Amino acid sequence: MRGEKALQIQDDWGDKPCEHPDYDREILFGCSTGDYVCVQCGRCLTNEEMEAIKTKRKKQH
Ligand SMILES: [Zn+2]
Repeated sequence: MRGEKALQIQDDWGDKPCEHPDYDREILFGCSTGDYVCVQCGRCLTNEEMEAIKTKRKKQH
């Protein structure tokens, strides 16, 4: 997901709580930053949040 798109999602989502159900790679100026952003709220995910999402997914399947 491009950085400007993530910012737009952040604007649309506002301050609502988000469980970060899904994520995408963050891309700035055409390059992947190696970070991940939540596709729902557009925020950068920490490693801890990434692990939480992965763990949650494993439990669901
Ligand atoms: Zn989120």
